[in-house]
Amino acid sequence: MPFTELQNELNERAALGLLRQRHTLQSPQSPHITVDGKPYLSFCSNDYLGLANHPQLIAALQQGAQQYGVGAGASHLVSGHFQIHHELEMQLAAFVGKPAALLFSSGYLANLGVVQALAGRSDTVFSDKLNHASLNDAMLLSRATVKRYRHSDMAHLAQLLQQTNSGRKLVITDAVFSMDGDLAPLSELLALCERYDAWLLVDDAHGFGVLGEQGRGCLSHFNLDSPRIIYMATLGKAAGVSGAFVAAEQVVVDTLLQSARSYIYTTASPPALACALLDSLHLVQEDEWRRDKLRKLIAQLQSGLAGIKWQLQHSDTPIQPLIIGGNEAALAVSTALRARGIWVPAIRPPTVSQGTARLRISLSAEHSESDVTQLIAALHELAQ
Ligand SMILES: *Cc1c(COP(=O)(O)O)cnc(C)c1O
Repeated sequence: MPFTELQNELNERAALGLLRQRHTLQSPQSPHITVDGKPYLSFCSNDYLGLANHPQLIAALQQGAQQYGVGAGASHLVSGHFQIHHELEMQLAAFVGKPAALLFSSGYLANLGVVQALAGRSDTVFSDKLNHASLNDAMLLSRATVKRYRHSDMAHLAQLLQQTNSGRKLVITDAVFSMDGDLAPLSELLALCERYDAWLLVDDAHGFGVLGEQGRGCLSHFNLDSPRIIYMATLGKAAGVSGAFVAAEQVVVDTLLQSARSYIYTTASPPALACALLDSLHLVQEDEWRRDKLRKLIAQLQSGLAGIKWQLQHSDTPIQPLIIGGNEAALAVSTALRARGIWVPAIRPPTVSQGTARLRISLSAEHSESDVTQLIAALHELAQ
């Protein structure tokens, strides 16, 4: 039986300190969570603006369920596309400054769909080496030729683009790198795409709601507006709900509707979620204090951890990685924090490269100054 083989592989993982484990939440997502029956101060969600448990969104979801029921019942192209989905698409497109948008059930599915719809066997996809797993999977699934460039290395990308003379070219990148918190050089990326006539797919999973004027995301942050940019963002992180969208020129969105298999062959997300998301979009836009608060907490964390023996990776986003190094060491710090009632996940290879295992501290506008003070004090104690 192949079971022993699987079990041996799992044992090997465990021996390397690489076994992934789940923990069960009994409370809503917020800075103060209950996990496996115990209370914790949490620094491990992507709910950057603190909207996942917002009373207004809960009410919108309830009302949406009253009005539309709980299930969409079919894919968008069969009978699952509701008026409220349509409204949300229009508002999202306008918010990020694009002519059209298309909703997907998740960011993972959106990336698979866009890359597969726009690149095929005779095309080439250029990808940053630190891109999110969903972009990596998307390019493999597309069957295009894949060229990976060193992280944010524009000279390397230029060289690869120059060597490619046939087919469509698609450059894909995280806007905010999910395990490092740094920003892609989007202006330079766009300039290269213009020079070599390539498309640019920007995955703004961690920038939407956080960066730019009113939280419009990375394009607003960098002041970029080009028809060759295909913008993708998720709605389960700063927006606090679930799902994702792609915003682009009308002809691109029309193409996705015809060919993105992860759009066509999956059930539409519940229309009630779109109701919650319309309210969320409003809060993202109006609650500037949430972004102000995040900036203050980021500054507090950075100054509080200055001089500690572990390096805080440079990042101006709510993703603040503290590099520990070894897998066991990162796990040990994470475990010791947990014993003190603080939850910060250890991120290890293969998610990050060997020797850079880290604590991925993520901040939320719902954290208080004293929450962050508590984390800083615990880390100083453990660094002794
Ligand atoms: C979270 C994430 C995704 C996937 O989005 P989901 O909606 O969670 O499927 C895609 N890209 C990046 C960079 C992400 O961080």
